[in-house]
Amino acid sequence: MSEKHSQCIHCSVESCKHLKPEQGICSLESIQVAPTPMAYSGDPADESMCQSYDCK
Ligand code: SF4
Repeated sequence: MSEKHSQCIHCSVESCKHLKPEQGICSLESIQVAPTPMAYSGDPADESMCQSYDCK
């Protein structure tokens, strides 16, 4: 991707190796968000998840 954005990805998933815990931000330039297998319940926690997650 060559598009430049000033977007900041705030995150608190401490088990992910891309998290900068001191700042509470993701170190990646962009992330992929995808529906979960349990989608369509209407609960935000069921509907989306970060596909760029990598376990430490
Ligand atoms: S990759 Fe996803 S889960 Fe990991 S720090 Fe970035 S936003 Fe958070």
